[in-house]
Amino acid sequence: MLEVSNISVTYGQHHALSDAALHVERGEIIVILGANGAGKSSLLKAIAGLLPSPAKIVKLAGRDLSRLPPHEIVEAGLALVPEGRGVFGELTVAENLLLGANPKRARAVEAEQRAKVMTLFPRLGERLAQTVRTMSGGEQQMVAIGRALMSNPEILLLDEPSLGLSPLLVRELFAALRKVRETGVGLLLVEQNARESLAIADRGYLIENGKITGSGTAAALQSDDAVRRAYLGGL
Ligand code: ATP
Repeated sequence: MLEVSNISVTYGQHHALSDAALHVERGEIIVILGANGAGKSSLLKAIAGLLPSPAKIVKLAGRDLSRLPPHEIVEAGLALVPEGRGVFGELTVAENLLLGANPKRARAVEAEQRAKVMTLFPRLGERLAQTVRTMSGGEQQMVAIGRALMSNPEILLLDEPSLGLSPLLVRELFAALRKVRETGVGLLLVEQNARESLAIADRGYLIENGKITGSGTAAALQSDDAVRRAYLGGL
């Protein structure tokens, strides 16, 4: 479904990411694990067209998106939930969701997508008129994911969605992501929370110092000694 390769990102002289490649199939949850500064956010932003990566190859269902600007990448079916959520705090939940439905691909299915989001996150349905800035961190994360889903994506990119959430909310969030997968959307998830994310993932990639250094099924990664030492507290 989504195939990316040749992703390199530099900041001045600093090579944040070199030649990364990965793929995500329909209805898969893929997790990217890596330490702080490994290049995870840069990878997602480059895929979404928000950072330059001149030689990158991004294909979605065979269509070449490599040279498209960010809004056309969303239009093609790839939506990013950025780290820090990127919600509009002064607007209501309903207004944030409506903004997500702006792409042409989303307009005809707006009511259907809204119903899906309400089913996934019933709390949003109860709070449609609430100003987003007054919501809890977990609720704001739901708004961010709900808004991205309103664009009717084939693939959802999520940058550390569990950051700052309590263990209970992390579980709720990941249960919701499983339900998103059931609708056939592919999820590419960057996470520090290795234990919980591997528990819901199908496959994963390891990223160290700007390079993809390993990959495998979630089960294989969970039982890999190096992964256990680096990301699972050595247990
Ligand atoms: P974290 O988990 O801490 O968010 P990350 O794996 O997402 O880390 P990136 O944010 O992709 O890592 O950053 C990769 C490297 O590029 C880091 O060394 C970071 O300091 C550097 N970097 C990121 N953004 C910039 C920038 N705007 N200017 C300069 N260097 C940057």
